[in-house]
Amino acid sequence: SAQHVNKIFNLKTENEVVALENVNLTIKPGEFISLIGPSGCGKSTLLRLIADLITPTSGDLKINGKEPHQARLDRDYGMVFQAATLYQWRSVSKNVQLPLEIMGYNREERQKRAQEMLDMVELGAFGKHYPWQLSGGMQQRVSIARALAFNPSLLLMDEPFGALDEFTRERMNMELLRIWDETQVTVIFVTHSIAEAVFLSSRIVVMSPRPGRITAIVNNDLPYP
Ligand code: ADP
Ligand code: ADP
Repeated sequence: SAQHVNKIFNLKTENEVVALENVNLTIKPGEFISLIGPSGCGKSTLLRLIADLITPTSGDLKINGKEPHQARLDRDYGMVFQAATLYQWRSVSKNVQLPLEIMGYNREERQKRAQEMLDMVELGAFGKHYPWQLSGGMQQRVSIARALAFNPSLLLMDEPFGALDEFTRERMNMELLRIWDETQVTVIFVTHSIAEAVFLSSRIVVMSPRPGRITAIVNNDLPYP
């Protein structure tokens, strides 16, 4: 939930940028929300605020009723970025195990959970491979498996398929909808692509730049069979 959220970079300097102005948005559990709009409209800023990578200049931001910092400590969300952020010298399974390792899970639990997650993204046979041995689409599926390994209620995705070719991207979109359906995770998905937003989301948040604002929120509950 965001109430009157403002984010100004370089406050009170000549380089002041109003990245977000008066953002109000409430997202219900299990929704698939897309944030769309041109470059510079504040999509990444909003995602980074939710992830507690930066803090609002003013306003109220809560995740599951908690301050973003608490939600971060509790691992309430996972993140997937455009560029694969996998560790190239760790096996695929070891990459997925990383968040569990940080939270102190033992080896057996980690391996079991990593295998479950890799099975879910249809990479069950690739645990012992290294990320550089996989295609771009496969690497992003590993990133999704890692982001969901800790079973967060929220998945934040910043143009996750932006670097993939059109065909891979379409397959990834189908795959993501299946995962969303299976896990019931709430997704906040940043994209430049209107087509992608329409295909994926239950609601579309349209933003515009200078200053970054929400200009429309569109219901898109498609009657899937
Ligand atoms: P989008 O993701 O929609 O392209 P951003 O959230 O990256 O937009 O950026 C929104 C505005 O905030 C832009 O004008 C951008 O230049 C500015 N901005 C983003 N991050 C910073 C930063 N760390 N310092 C200064 N300005 C920033
Ligand atoms: P795309 O560009 O469509 O994402 P790639 O051409 O990178 O796909 O990969 C296609 C296939 O080749 C994948 O199955 C991937 O596992 C395999 N592959 C890619 N690079 C390597 C590599 N360096 N070693 C072994 N297999 C690879």
